Amino acid sequence: MFAGVRQRMVQEQLAGDPERPIRNSAVLAAMTRVPRHEFVPASQHAEAYMAWPLPIGFGQTISQPYIVALMTEELDPQPTDRVLEIGTGSGYQAAVLSGLVAAVFTVEIVEPLARDAAARLGRLGCRNVQVRAGDGHEGWPEAAPFDAIIVTCAPESVPPQLLAQLRDGGRLIIPVGPLGDQELRLLEQRPGRPGQRAVLPVRFVPMTRGAGRSAVPATFNL
Ligand code: SAH
Repeated sequence: MFAGVRQRMVQEQLAGDPERPIRNSAVLAAMTRVPRHEFVPASQHAEAYMAWPLPIGFGQTISQPYIVALMTEELDPQPTDRVLEIGTGSGYQAAVLSGLVAAVFTVEIVEPLARDAAARLGRLGCRNVQVRAGDGHEGWPEAAPFDAIIVTCAPESVPPQLLAQLRDGGRLIIPVGPLGDQELRLLEQRPGRPGQRAVLPVRFVPMTRGAGRSAVPATFNL
């Protein structure tokens, strides 16, 4: 029912972006496959493929399709990659990555969002995704090192634990800065100082800190 509108979204908003079109065919195929409307509340179905962010509850939002595609493309995902995502939200970004890489580990600080995303990803058959409720500042040490890390909430500066969990040559994409003045950055892990490139000014929800949470984060099995 949404296949046609999804195809149009990919052609017009992603491949057809006038300034910086998405060219990676695997990324475009993943965006064509994943049913984005399944990741937003039923009240938002009509807008699921529009070029703007949508509310997903708990004051959080799912990014517009172009930003998801751009961040995925910048990560240069490879079929053998193990990827860490911070900020599971609805699970949409994790689902897009799921079809492109070997394994996705995703951490969400709002427990009901983590639980819902895990159930949704299971329902949609994304078997290579693990969802954890916890504070993403800690990363996922037991599963490190990662080939790539994607952060979909904005800290004021790059959390050192995340860089530490990136393998040499690994890539980290992250929005950094205070609300209203964030930029999307791509970092590459190198011995010594990581390489950095500014990608785009963006607007993401802030990365919060989990005060007083249990020391053992919950992992939801799909
Ligand atoms: N990638 C998501 C959208 C993310 S919205 C999707 O595809 O739907 C940003 C998410 O980051 C929110 O759900 C928010 O609760 C979460 N978040 C904020 N601070 C966090 C932290 N410290 N650790 C993990 N998740 C965090």
